[in-house]
Amino acid sequence: MITVVGSINMDLVVGTERFPKQGETVLGNLHTTVPGGKGANQAVAASRLGGKVAIIGAVGTDPFGDELAANLENEGIDVSGVKRVEGPSGIANILLSEGDNRIIVVPGANHGLTPEDIGNCEQVIGSSNLIVLQLEIPIPSVLRTLEIAHRNRVPVILNPAPADGFSDEFLQYEPILTPNESEAAMMFGENWERALEAHPNRLIVTLGQNGARYYDGERHVRVPGIRAEAVDTTGAGDTFNGALAVALAEEMPMEDAIRFANAAASLSVEQFGAQGGMPGRRKTTERMK
Ligand code: ADP
Repeated sequence: MITVVGSINMDLVVGTERFPKQGETVLGNLHTTVPGGKGANQAVAASRLGGKVAIIGAVGTDPFGDELAANLENEGIDVSGVKRVEGPSGIANILLSEGDNRIIVVPGANHGLTPEDIGNCEQVIGSSNLIVLQLEIPIPSVLRTLEIAHRNRVPVILNPAPADGFSDEFLQYEPILTPNESEAAMMFGENWERALEAHPNRLIVTLGQNGARYYDGERHVRVPGIRAEAVDTTGAGDTFNGALAVALAEEMPMEDAIRFANAAASLSVEQFGAQGGMPGRRKTTERMK
Protein backbone atom coordinates (compact mmCIF):
# COMPACT_ATOMS: atom_id res chain seq x y z
CA MET A 1 0.00 0.00 0.00
CA ILE A 2 1.06 3.56 -0.80
CA THR A 3 0.19 6.02 1.97
CA VAL A 4 0.04 9.70 1.08
CA VAL A 5 0.37 12.07 4.03
CA GLY A 6 -0.64 15.48 2.77
CA SER A 7 -2.92 18.31 1.88
CA ILE A 8 -6.49 18.16 0.64
CA ASN A 9 -7.81 21.38 -0.92
CA MET A 10 -10.59 22.73 -3.06
CA ASP A 11 -9.14 24.50 -6.11
CA LEU A 12 -10.93 27.72 -7.03
CA VAL A 13 -9.83 28.13 -10.61
CA VAL A 14 -10.11 31.36 -12.55
CA GLY A 15 -9.06 31.70 -16.19
CA THR A 16 -8.19 34.98 -17.88
CA GLU A 17 -6.69 36.15 -21.20
CA ARG A 18 -3.79 37.75 -19.35
CA PHE A 19 -2.71 38.07 -15.72
CA PRO A 20 -3.78 41.37 -14.09
CA LYS A 21 -1.01 43.72 -13.12
CA GLN A 22 -0.80 44.92 -9.52
CA GLY A 23 -3.87 47.05 -8.72
CA GLU A 24 -5.54 46.17 -12.04
CA THR A 25 -8.86 44.39 -12.62
CA VAL A 26 -9.39 42.23 -15.70
CA LEU A 27 -12.42 40.23 -16.84
CA GLY A 28 -11.92 36.47 -16.60
CA ASN A 29 -13.29 33.87 -19.00
CA LEU A 30 -13.68 30.83 -16.73
CA HIS A 31 -14.45 29.87 -13.14
CA THR A 32 -14.75 26.44 -11.60
CA THR A 33 -14.23 24.60 -8.30
CA VAL A 34 -12.37 21.29 -8.54
CA PRO A 35 -10.76 19.06 -5.89
CA GLY A 36 -7.01 19.53 -5.47
CA GLY A 37 -4.24 19.86 -2.90
CA LYS A 38 -0.88 18.25 -3.53
CA GLY A 39 -1.56 15.32 -1.19
CA ALA A 40 -4.97 14.53 -2.66
CA ASN A 41 -3.72 15.02 -6.22
CA GLN A 42 -0.80 12.66 -5.74
CA ALA A 43 -3.10 10.10 -4.11
CA VAL A 44 -5.56 10.30 -7.03
CA ALA A 45 -2.74 10.01 -9.59
CA ALA A 46 -1.38 6.89 -7.86
CA SER A 47 -4.82 5.31 -7.48
CA ARG A 48 -5.76 5.83 -11.15
CA LEU A 49 -2.49 4.17 -12.16
CA GLY A 50 -3.41 1.03 -10.22
CA GLY A 51 -1.81 1.74 -6.84
CA LYS A 52 -3.52 0.68 -3.60
CA VAL A 53 -3.65 4.05 -1.87
CA ALA A 54 -4.54 5.44 1.56
CA ILE A 55 -4.45 9.12 2.50
CA ILE A 56 -3.78 10.74 5.87
CA GLY A 57 -4.96 14.35 5.92
CA ALA A 58 -7.56 16.81 7.18
CA VAL A 59 -10.62 18.55 5.76
CA GLY A 60 -12.89 21.17 7.31
CA THR A 61 -16.46 21.04 8.57
CA ASP A 62 -17.65 23.18 5.62
CA PRO A 63 -19.45 21.72 2.56
CA PHE A 64 -16.09 21.54 0.72
CA GLY A 65 -14.96 19.05 3.39
CA ASP A 66 -17.75 16.59 2.46
CA GLU A 67 -17.08 17.03 -1.24
CA LEU A 68 -13.35 16.54 -0.88
CA ALA A 69 -13.67 13.36 1.20
CA ALA A 70 -16.30 11.94 -1.17
CA ASN A 71 -14.11 12.68 -4.18
CA LEU A 72 -11.18 10.75 -2.70
CA GLU A 73 -13.42 7.83 -1.81
CA ASN A 74 -14.84 7.76 -5.35
CA GLU A 75 -11.28 7.47 -6.60
CA GLY A 76 -10.90 4.25 -4.62
CA ILE A 77 -8.67 5.78 -1.93
CA ASP A 78 -8.84 4.66 1.71
CA VAL A 79 -9.97 7.80 3.57
CA SER A 80 -10.11 6.37 7.10
CA GLY A 81 -7.09 8.58 7.93
CA VAL A 82 -8.87 11.78 6.89
CA LYS A 83 -9.67 13.88 9.94
CA ARG A 84 -12.37 16.57 10.29
CA VAL A 85 -11.14 19.87 11.67
CA GLU A 86 -13.61 22.54 12.85
CA GLY A 87 -13.58 25.42 10.33
CA PRO A 88 -12.92 25.79 6.60
CA SER A 89 -11.21 23.27 4.34
CA GLY A 90 -8.00 24.24 2.60
CA ILE A 91 -8.38 26.10 -0.67
CA ALA A 92 -6.10 27.03 -3.53
CA ASN A 93 -6.79 30.14 -5.53
CA ILE A 94 -5.50 29.29 -9.02
CA LEU A 95 -5.13 31.88 -11.75
CA LEU A 96 -4.70 30.42 -15.22
CA SER A 97 -3.44 32.46 -18.11
CA GLU A 98 -0.96 32.43 -20.97
CA GLY A 99 -0.46 28.65 -20.56
CA ASP A 100 0.84 29.21 -17.03
CA ASN A 101 -0.49 29.41 -13.46
CA ARG A 102 -0.20 31.54 -10.31
CA ILE A 103 -1.40 29.97 -7.09
CA ILE A 104 -2.21 31.07 -3.53
CA VAL A 105 -2.89 28.28 -1.04
CA VAL A 106 -4.81 28.94 2.20
CA PRO A 107 -4.20 25.82 4.33
CA GLY A 108 -7.35 25.91 6.52
CA ALA A 109 -7.99 22.44 7.96
CA ASN A 110 -4.67 21.11 6.63
CA HIS A 111 -2.96 23.02 9.42
CA GLY A 112 -4.96 20.96 11.91
CA LEU A 113 -3.12 17.76 10.96
CA THR A 114 -0.86 17.53 14.01
CA PRO A 115 2.19 15.38 14.82
CA GLU A 116 -0.08 13.58 17.32
CA ASP A 117 -2.46 12.66 14.48
CA ILE A 118 0.52 11.27 12.57
CA GLY A 119 1.63 9.35 15.66
CA ASN A 120 -1.83 7.79 15.87
CA CYS A 121 -1.32 6.48 12.31
CA GLU A 122 2.02 4.82 13.10
CA GLN A 123 0.61 1.37 12.33
CA VAL A 124 -0.57 2.44 8.84
CA ILE A 125 2.64 4.33 8.05
CA GLY A 126 4.92 1.59 9.35
CA SER A 127 3.18 -1.15 7.36
CA SER A 128 3.05 0.78 4.04
CA ASN A 129 5.27 -0.08 1.06
CA LEU A 130 5.91 3.59 0.36
CA ILE A 131 5.03 6.99 1.82
CA VAL A 132 4.40 10.11 -0.25
CA LEU A 133 4.81 13.52 1.41
CA GLN A 134 4.67 17.20 0.39
CA LEU A 135 5.04 20.42 2.41
CA GLU A 136 1.45 21.73 2.54
CA ILE A 137 0.87 20.30 6.04
CA PRO A 138 2.58 21.49 9.26
CA ILE A 139 6.33 20.81 9.09
CA PRO A 140 6.38 19.05 12.51
CA SER A 141 3.87 16.57 11.01
CA VAL A 142 6.14 16.07 7.98
CA LEU A 143 9.05 15.38 10.34
CA ARG A 144 7.03 12.95 12.42
CA THR A 145 6.05 11.03 9.27
CA LEU A 146 9.67 10.90 8.10
CA GLU A 147 10.80 9.68 11.50
CA ILE A 148 8.18 6.89 11.70
CA ALA A 149 8.81 5.77 8.12
CA HIS A 150 12.58 5.74 8.62
CA ARG A 151 12.34 3.74 11.84
CA ASN A 152 10.13 1.18 10.05
CA ARG A 153 12.36 1.16 6.94
CA VAL A 154 9.55 2.38 4.70
CA PRO A 155 10.83 4.43 1.72
CA VAL A 156 9.51 7.98 1.33
CA ILE A 157 9.02 10.24 -1.68
CA LEU A 158 9.15 13.80 -0.38
CA ASN A 159 7.93 16.30 -2.94
CA PRO A 160 9.42 19.50 -1.47
CA ALA A 161 6.65 21.87 -2.46
CA PRO A 162 6.14 24.63 -1.53
CA ALA A 163 9.92 24.71 -1.20
CA ASP A 164 10.08 27.38 1.49
CA GLY A 165 8.99 24.65 3.94
CA PHE A 166 12.07 22.60 3.12
CA SER A 167 14.58 22.00 5.91
CA ASP A 168 17.97 20.25 5.85
CA GLU A 169 16.67 18.36 8.87
CA PHE A 170 14.67 16.16 6.45
CA LEU A 171 17.83 14.80 4.84
CA GLN A 172 18.82 12.60 7.80
CA TYR A 173 15.76 10.42 6.97
CA GLU A 174 17.02 9.89 3.41
CA PRO A 175 13.82 10.56 1.48
CA ILE A 176 13.67 10.57 -2.32
CA LEU A 177 13.30 14.28 -3.16
CA THR A 178 11.40 15.44 -6.25
CA PRO A 179 11.71 19.23 -6.63
CA ASN A 180 11.14 21.05 -9.90
CA GLU A 181 13.97 23.34 -11.04
CA SER A 182 12.89 26.42 -9.10
CA GLU A 183 12.34 24.35 -5.94
CA ALA A 184 15.78 22.75 -6.40
CA ALA A 185 17.28 26.25 -6.64
CA MET A 186 15.52 27.27 -3.42
CA MET A 187 16.77 24.17 -1.62
CA PHE A 188 20.34 23.92 -2.89
CA GLY A 189 21.03 27.33 -4.50
CA GLU A 190 21.45 28.29 -8.15
CA ASN A 191 24.13 25.60 -8.57
CA TRP A 192 21.72 22.85 -7.50
CA GLU A 193 23.21 20.53 -10.15
CA ARG A 194 26.10 19.99 -7.73
CA ALA A 195 23.69 18.56 -5.15
CA LEU A 196 22.70 15.70 -7.49
CA GLU A 197 25.92 13.77 -6.85
CA ALA A 198 25.51 14.10 -3.08
CA HIS A 199 22.12 12.34 -3.30
CA PRO A 200 22.48 9.45 -5.76
CA ASN A 201 19.07 8.03 -6.78
CA ARG A 202 17.49 10.29 -4.16
CA LEU A 203 17.30 13.67 -5.83
CA ILE A 204 15.05 13.67 -8.90
CA VAL A 205 14.70 17.15 -10.40
CA THR A 206 11.74 17.58 -12.76
CA LEU A 207 12.37 19.79 -15.80
CA GLY A 208 8.89 20.56 -17.14
CA GLN A 209 8.55 19.44 -20.76
CA ASN A 210 12.20 18.32 -20.70
CA GLY A 211 11.44 15.50 -18.28
CA ALA A 212 13.62 14.88 -15.22
CA ARG A 213 17.22 14.24 -14.18
CA TYR A 214 19.12 12.52 -11.38
CA TYR A 215 22.50 10.98 -10.60
CA ASP A 216 22.56 7.20 -10.33
CA GLY A 217 25.84 6.84 -8.43
CA GLU A 218 27.95 6.57 -11.59
CA ARG A 219 26.48 8.87 -14.16
CA HIS A 220 24.04 11.73 -14.63
CA VAL A 221 20.82 10.55 -16.22
CA ARG A 222 18.25 12.72 -17.97
CA VAL A 223 14.98 11.01 -18.75
CA PRO A 224 13.45 13.03 -21.60
CA GLY A 225 9.93 14.39 -21.33
CA ILE A 226 7.24 13.29 -23.73
CA ARG A 227 5.84 15.88 -26.11
CA ALA A 228 2.31 16.97 -25.19
CA GLU A 229 -0.27 19.55 -26.21
CA ALA A 230 -0.28 21.41 -22.90
CA VAL A 231 -3.58 23.11 -22.01
CA ASP A 232 -3.22 23.18 -18.19
CA THR A 233 0.02 22.31 -16.41
CA THR A 234 -1.58 22.43 -12.92
CA GLY A 235 -0.90 19.07 -11.32
CA ALA A 236 1.85 17.94 -13.71
CA GLY A 237 4.25 17.58 -10.80
CA ASP A 238 1.58 15.84 -8.71
CA THR A 239 0.91 13.32 -11.47
CA PHE A 240 4.67 12.77 -11.78
CA ASN A 241 4.93 12.05 -8.04
CA GLY A 242 1.88 9.77 -7.87
CA ALA A 243 3.14 7.80 -10.86
CA LEU A 244 6.67 7.61 -9.49
CA ALA A 245 5.21 6.22 -6.24
CA VAL A 246 3.30 3.48 -8.10
CA ALA A 247 6.35 2.55 -10.16
CA LEU A 248 8.75 2.46 -7.19
CA ALA A 249 6.23 0.53 -5.06
CA GLU A 250 6.25 -2.03 -7.89
CA GLU A 251 10.05 -2.05 -7.62
CA MET A 252 10.68 -0.68 -11.11
CA PRO A 253 14.29 0.51 -11.54
CA MET A 254 14.60 4.31 -11.12
CA GLU A 255 15.06 5.16 -14.80
CA ASP A 256 12.00 3.11 -15.86
CA ALA A 257 10.00 4.59 -12.98
CA ILE A 258 10.82 8.11 -14.19
CA ARG A 259 9.91 7.22 -17.78
CA PHE A 260 6.56 6.02 -16.47
CA ALA A 261 6.12 9.22 -14.41
CA ASN A 262 7.01 11.43 -17.40
CA ALA A 263 4.45 9.62 -19.54
CA ALA A 264 1.68 9.99 -16.96
CA ALA A 265 2.53 13.66 -16.33
CA SER A 266 2.63 14.46 -20.05
CA LEU A 267 -0.93 13.14 -20.38
CA SER A 268 -2.07 15.16 -17.38
CA VAL A 269 -1.17 18.51 -18.96
CA GLU A 270 -3.42 17.83 -21.94
CA GLN A 271 -6.61 18.27 -19.94
CA PHE A 272 -8.04 20.87 -17.63
CA GLY A 273 -7.70 20.70 -13.83
CA ALA A 274 -5.12 19.10 -11.58
CA GLN A 275 -6.99 15.80 -11.33
CA GLY A 276 -8.94 16.16 -14.58
CA GLY A 277 -6.15 14.95 -16.85
CA MET A 278 -4.65 12.26 -14.64
CA PRO A 279 -4.43 9.14 -16.77
CA GLY A 280 -5.02 5.46 -16.11
CA ARG A 281 -2.52 2.69 -16.59
CA ARG A 282 -3.33 1.70 -20.18
CA LYS A 283 -3.02 5.22 -21.60
CA THR A 284 0.23 5.75 -19.71
CA THR A 285 1.80 2.51 -20.92
CA GLU A 286 0.74 3.35 -24.49
CA ARG A 287 2.39 6.75 -24.29
CA MET A 288 5.69 5.15 -23.29
CA LYS A 289 5.90 3.25 -26.60
P1 ADP B 1 5.73 21.23 -11.53
O1 ADP B 1 4.49 20.88 -12.24
O2 ADP B 1 5.79 20.71 -10.13
O3 ADP B 1 6.14 22.66 -11.65
P2 ADP B 1 7.43 20.42 -13.73
O4 ADP B 1 7.01 21.62 -14.48
O5 ADP B 1 8.88 20.09 -13.70
O6 ADP B 1 6.94 20.41 -12.22
O7 ADP B 1 6.64 19.18 -14.37
C1 ADP B 1 6.62 17.91 -13.75
C2 ADP B 1 6.64 16.82 -14.81
O8 ADP B 1 5.50 16.96 -15.65
C3 ADP B 1 7.83 16.87 -15.75
O9 ADP B 1 8.92 16.13 -15.21
C4 ADP B 1 7.27 16.23 -17.00
O10 ADP B 1 7.29 14.82 -16.88
C5 ADP B 1 5.80 16.68 -16.99
N1 ADP B 1 5.52 17.89 -17.79
C6 ADP B 1 5.37 19.15 -17.33
N2 ADP B 1 5.10 20.02 -18.32
C7 ADP B 1 5.07 19.29 -19.46
C8 ADP B 1 4.84 19.59 -20.85
N3 ADP B 1 4.57 20.83 -21.26
N4 ADP B 1 4.88 18.55 -21.72
C9 ADP B 1 5.15 17.30 -21.33
N5 ADP B 1 5.38 16.95 -20.05
C10 ADP B 1 5.34 17.92 -19.12
